[in-house]
Amino acid sequence: MLLDVLQRYWGYDGFRPLQEAAMRSVLDGRDSVVVLPTGGGKSLCYQAPAMCLDGLAIVVSPLISLMKDQVDALRTNGIPAVFVNSTQTGAERARVAEDIRAERVKLLYVSPEKLVQDRMIEFLKGLKVSMFAIDEAHCVSEWGHDFRPEYRQLNLLRANFPDVGLHAYTATATERVRHDIAKSLELRQPDVLVGSFDRPNLIYKVERRKSGLGQVREVLDRHKGESGIIYCTTRADVDKLSIELNGQDFKTLPYHAGMADDERRRHQDDFIEDRCDIIVATVAFGMGIDKSNVRFVIHYGMPKSLESYQQESGRAGRDGLEADCCLFHSGSEYIRWQRMLEESPPGPVREAAAQSLEAISKFATGANCRHRALVNYFGQDLPAEQAESCGACDVCLGQLDLVEDAQVIGQKILSSVFRQDQRFGGDYTALVLKGSLDQRILQNGHDKLSTHGLLKDVAQKTIRDWIEQLVGQGFLKKDGEYNILKLTPTGWQLIKGELTPKLLRPAPPKREKRQAVVIGDSWDGVDRGLFDTLRDLRRAKAGALSVPAYIVFGDTALREMARRRPTTIADFRSVKGVGDKKLADFGQEFIACITNYCQQHGVATDTPGRTATEDNGPNLSALAAFRLFREGRSIGDVANVISRATSTVTGYLAEFIRHDGITDPSPWVPAELIPRIEAAVRKHGFERLGTIFDELNGEVSYELIRPVLDCLRVREHFGEES
Ligand code: ADP
Ligand code: ZN
Repeated sequence: MLLDVLQRYWGYDGFRPLQEAAMRSVLDGRDSVVVLPTGGGKSLCYQAPAMCLDGLAIVVSPLISLMKDQVDALRTNGIPAVFVNSTQTGAERARVAEDIRAERVKLLYVSPEKLVQDRMIEFLKGLKVSMFAIDEAHCVSEWGHDFRPEYRQLNLLRANFPDVGLHAYTATATERVRHDIAKSLELRQPDVLVGSFDRPNLIYKVERRKSGLGQVREVLDRHKGESGIIYCTTRADVDKLSIELNGQDFKTLPYHAGMADDERRRHQDDFIEDRCDIIVATVAFGMGIDKSNVRFVIHYGMPKSLESYQQESGRAGRDGLEADCCLFHSGSEYIRWQRMLEESPPGPVREAAAQSLEAISKFATGANCRHRALVNYFGQDLPAEQAESCGACDVCLGQLDLVEDAQVIGQKILSSVFRQDQRFGGDYTALVLKGSLDQRILQNGHDKLSTHGLLKDVAQKTIRDWIEQLVGQGFLKKDGEYNILKLTPTGWQLIKGELTPKLLRPAPPKREKRQAVVIGDSWDGVDRGLFDTLRDLRRAKAGALSVPAYIVFGDTALREMARRRPTTIADFRSVKGVGDKKLADFGQEFIACITNYCQQHGVATDTPGRTATEDNGPNLSALAAFRLFREGRSIGDVANVISRATSTVTGYLAEFIRHDGITDPSPWVPAELIPRIEAAVRKHGFERLGTIFDELNGEVSYELIRPVLDCLRVREHFGEES
């Protein structure tokens, strides 16, 4: 039944993790708290069961703009949904009420303040209500980052609708918030479903802000024609950066709370509806931005907490396709946030905020896997297969700017901790290593230690960062109330020279030459020309319907169309994201567009789709393959281990060679063949694969030619650059 509904209305053929359990909870009439990361598919958790249940589902949604988009999206899928809010005229509201009474509606979206009005409650009591879905439910909690007093009043739902299931949905992860939600809404033994907070399709990168603009440009250049958000910490920064970028031929729009309402609104719409690719904004921008195809989120400055960072960066890649999250920070933001904290009233809320600030600062200055750091903060761990490397952050991809003598530095720091009898904290230890003649140091006689002044040429702040990095990597631990530093067993191994830590280089590093990475194969086989053509058609359709482009079709669906190029109704219907209604509304035109394009350009149509498993996790399997290639494993071997077709793995290898800048194909090609293949490539050029094959008398398979060719290309590329 559920699967049927999913197929019919959304064109999806399966559930995302926890979706099915969350839907069961609704169907069975229990209460629930569902915590899924952004892009995890929360909306479907109540929308699909609403279609199976008798009566009207009520969705509480805090933002009017979000409401309209969601209702539009449902209607384009053929689902009867409506909303009620203050922007409507009396006549419009009367029509909505009539549709509801006539049972022509399955979902009603309403703001919390509207819902709790007596008239509304009485109206709903006269109807058959199937469930309440409370979206962005963390707004009930003071501990959440977005407390809204009107959410508190939602507790009256329980008393007025004792027999109707209440379901809360949020992406905010902390246990405290979860408890608060259940308590405030008076939920009855709710099913608590907490998903994994990791977002494997996001590629994290953290850098000190150096050139600033140059670093931002580098990301933008990589994402020409794609949507992205640049977050600044102040309004002044927003205005300045937006103007600077516009002066360099990027088209950006600013957004912050200091702007006039209508201008702000216009800029937001231009971004959502793909008329402008880049928005430069303060944190005022984002709640309710449901745009699925945001390909990058840049933080031009450190946000005030790790929770905010997770939320804001999480707006990238909702559609599950890879996206870049880059944080460019400088020490000045930390100091500013700390000042603001000191000015706020003391108490538990301020304490919690101070902890979050420490957490983001550690995240930014640390040298641990970013994916792991984020999920650990929310009390989870990465799956075992990513224990070594997540394959999607600067740390695991080896892009950090590391000091070369990390072992010696680490040993110096650890031996100082040891010689101080493991009785002092990080600040003190840094002072000793710097060679300070501070009162306390003199009193303790630590100016006599052999480690005193051992790092005197290094900035105090850098030593302090290194200490945190050593803690983060388990060489030191912090003990007790005063965070006393102690050596761990791993720390002793470092002292003995058996292990080497990763320590970040403090000085502005040289510019990285290597091409930025794009992981995964979600563009594999996609005809970019066709994709762009379909994008134009999508924009035209969306314009005619006055809805954002992604509501017509998401990027995922568009890529699949441009990859498989379906020309029959049945094939087109099997594209993920094409349900019955969209097939009827858009099918013919899109199929005609595909057919036309393919005829004109001599491109094959109706190529087979990929398997379901590949669709669910191209990034992950590519990443797993990368790791195995690094160990020098063969294509066949890798194909076996990750259960993928050889042809797929051959594609991964090509990507791996580019990505890691591999120049020697010998792990994958017999040594005696390499010179022969290279000669043939040199003779005919990189693009003539068929001719090269013929040149080698058809004796050497494409699978062997390709790695040699790709390695040669890397060599030539670097040759040009240096
Ligand atoms: P959230 O509200 O948790 O951030 P959404 O409900 O907006 O996430 O879903 C994110 C995207 O994933 C949407 O484009 C949605 O249509 C898509 N999606 C959700 N569930 C599925 C599914 N079972 N199969 C395929 N796509 C899905
Ligand atoms: Zn990582």
